[in-house]
Amino acid sequence: MKVYLHSIGCRLNQSEIETMARQLLASGHEIVDDPSQADKVVINTCAVTAEAARDARSQTRRIHRHNPAADIVLTGCYATIAPNELAQLPRASHVVLNKDKGQLVQLLDPQARIDLPVFDQEPVLREFLAGSVGNTRAFIKAQDGCNNRCTFCVTTVARGEGQSRHLGDVVAEIQALAAAGYREAVLTGVHLGSYGHDFGNKAGLRDLVAAILSHTDIPRLRLSSLEPWDIAPDFFTLWENPRLLPHLHMPLQSGSDKILRRMARRTSRASFRALAEAARNHIPNLNLSTDIIVGFPGETEADFADSLDYVAEIGFARLHVFSYSQRPGTAAAAMPDHVAGPVKKERARRMIALGEELSLAFHEQFVGEVVDVLWETAVGADSHALRWVGYTDNYIRVHGHGPAHLFNQVTPTRLSDPRPNGMSGEIMLVENYV
Ligand code: SF4
Repeated sequence: MKVYLHSIGCRLNQSEIETMARQLLASGHEIVDDPSQADKVVINTCAVTAEAARDARSQTRRIHRHNPAADIVLTGCYATIAPNELAQLPRASHVVLNKDKGQLVQLLDPQARIDLPVFDQEPVLREFLAGSVGNTRAFIKAQDGCNNRCTFCVTTVARGEGQSRHLGDVVAEIQALAAAGYREAVLTGVHLGSYGHDFGNKAGLRDLVAAILSHTDIPRLRLSSLEPWDIAPDFFTLWENPRLLPHLHMPLQSGSDKILRRMARRTSRASFRALAEAARNHIPNLNLSTDIIVGFPGETEADFADSLDYVAEIGFARLHVFSYSQRPGTAAAAMPDHVAGPVKKERARRMIALGEELSLAFHEQFVGEVVDVLWETAVGADSHALRWVGYTDNYIRVHGHGPAHLFNQVTPTRLSDPRPNGMSGEIMLVENYV
């Protein structure tokens, strides 16, 4: 059977699609990167914004146009909050709720083994997994669901209460991936910081990271998004181990205390500032990135100015900026004082512009430095070499020229030419790396 897999949205969705790919490959099926060749299609949907939901509908229609014979299985957060809506889409053969996603491949092949340790596979070339291109990092699901109730968030509606995977399973999966040749693992979850809380362990994430660093050979361990609370006091001492990468993505969402309260975020300007400072004191060259929502209901021009000032003060290395999107079933959707579309658009433009300034300033600090880069994708070729893209340990995107065998290799690289979206790198092959 030929299967086309597509993931929309977060890294947790990505890790779930990767697990499906490994299960299908280990059950003798083929993953194709062109939907017109597929017998079956799986789309892991997202509901975090109206735009993400729209993307799922248009992807389904596009795939159906190119391959009217293929059965399309829709799963994920959008499928969970609006199953009947998605069931109306052309050739939507199954709509699988998040709670049943773990058994999804058995819908495609009842003989497929979902508990099979399928880790004798080479790193899955991600070109085959639509929705993400060419990297060599394995996304590992450690946790699902969330017990918080941020007023804009539909994820808790779609994914339910917080649930942690057993520490031993996560460690075993990462060790098997390291043995299969992966050089980097990314721990993902809906609220990763709450890992272990459902086992009664408030320092669960610290213990999980420590166990991975001591019981696996994975060369690089990265954390995906980490809410800026529920962080154990000694958590940042874990970074004394250089295999834990100096990159923290901590969603702030707004730099205005008034708006943070309306969002029911368990953080404030003061507590976030203290956390950022503690992280920077422990982690050299830290890339601290964040998410910011602009145009939240009730956000005045003064609140937005507060948010801009605070973001500039913290000096994030990277901003993901979202215009507030009204989501069905959330508390914020029923709030008064929604911000007009053109105003949201203008605020997003200004916040993005600030983000680019801050990213450029962050990259400028590393000009001339020789750092390790994990090379992931060849994006083209010149007369003398291939053009590669890779990432430093602190998540700087680097463009460089090099030989064909660089995929999934780590090389010392001299950085130059800072830009908002990355840098250039001269690959220091061993013989001239002094
Ligand atoms: S912490 Fe808030 S934003 Fe994050 S998943 Fe939970 S409810 Fe949503």
